[in-house]
Amino acid sequence: MRMEVRTVAVIGAGTMGAGIAQVCAQSGWHTRIFDAFPKSLENGVAKIYSFWEKGIEKGKTTEEEKNEWGQNLMPCYEISEAVEDADLVIEAVPEIMELKKKIFLEIEKMAPEYAILATNTSSLPISEIANVTNCPERIIGMHFFNPVPIMKLLELVRHEKCSKETINLAESIGRKMGKETILVNDVPGFATSRLGVVLGNEAIKMLSQGVASASDIDTAMKLGYKHPMGPLELSDLVGLDVRRDILNSLAESFNDESYRPHQLLENLVSEGSLGRKTNKGIYIWGENGKKERDDLPK
Ligand code: NAD
Repeated sequence: MRMEVRTVAVIGAGTMGAGIAQVCAQSGWHTRIFDAFPKSLENGVAKIYSFWEKGIEKGKTTEEEKNEWGQNLMPCYEISEAVEDADLVIEAVPEIMELKKKIFLEIEKMAPEYAILATNTSSLPISEIANVTNCPERIIGMHFFNPVPIMKLLELVRHEKCSKETINLAESIGRKMGKETILVNDVPGFATSRLGVVLGNEAIKMLSQGVASASDIDTAMKLGYKHPMGPLELSDLVGLDVRRDILNSLAESFNDESYRPHQLLENLVSEGSLGRKTNKGIYIWGENGKKERDDLPK
């Protein structure tokens, strides 16, 4: 195992993959980013550049920094090209166990045998992913938060066979990325997702029961409990499909139906209202911020 990272591969260029790749490029590492869908790869890279451009407009980033970071960032149309010389691979594909297992089997064969292989899963058991490979000691959960360039937390998740070297290196990678790391055991939902999705699901249930409007429920938690963002706004930011998947995976892992997504959440996902990424979720998101919806599906 290398004691220092020079090259990172990010698999998946969606909400999280693009954010992770951006921070890796800013940390000075050669950063390869791959997505199974070329359009998603291009959108992800465009999102990174747009973040940097806005930084220049606001005076937070210089043109030189943007050029330097841009040189570190390499979009890849083949997964092998992305991982073949990576010291660290971070997987950020959708929250589907079978898909993640398939990717880990592929990257195990293609990445160098010293590479750390990390998953950004929000809730799936790391041990189940690690145990399909022949190198579980090099596999770890690296759970970043959205938006990755802004959120300070990196939740590291260790499973039984994860080596001490892997944990140490992941901690130092996190620090280099400007994150504060916490170390959590491999329990479904870890320390963060379990509490976060339960609060969001309860808020959606309250909305469907007519307890209060969406913005009043959010204001309740912001002003009454000092949460920086309300649970409904946060659900829209994370993605309602992502939250629905996490709730289902908790229900299955704990064998407890009380974790199941509320029907209103299911209905929103089925009508394609996934939150900010589709401009419509619990709220309608436009140029001028968010608007309360009066057409919520029953
Ligand atoms: P997303 O849907 O925005 O992005 C997933 C990307 O993976 C898409 O661009 C898709 O084209 C790509 N993809 C699909 N199949 C692929 C394959 N076989 N190979 C390569 N790319 C493939 O999802 P996201 O919100 O970025 O979530 C990704 C992971 O991060 C999930 O495990 C999720 O639980 C976790 N996560 C999400 C958040 C969040 O706030 N959205 C926060 C923390 C962790």
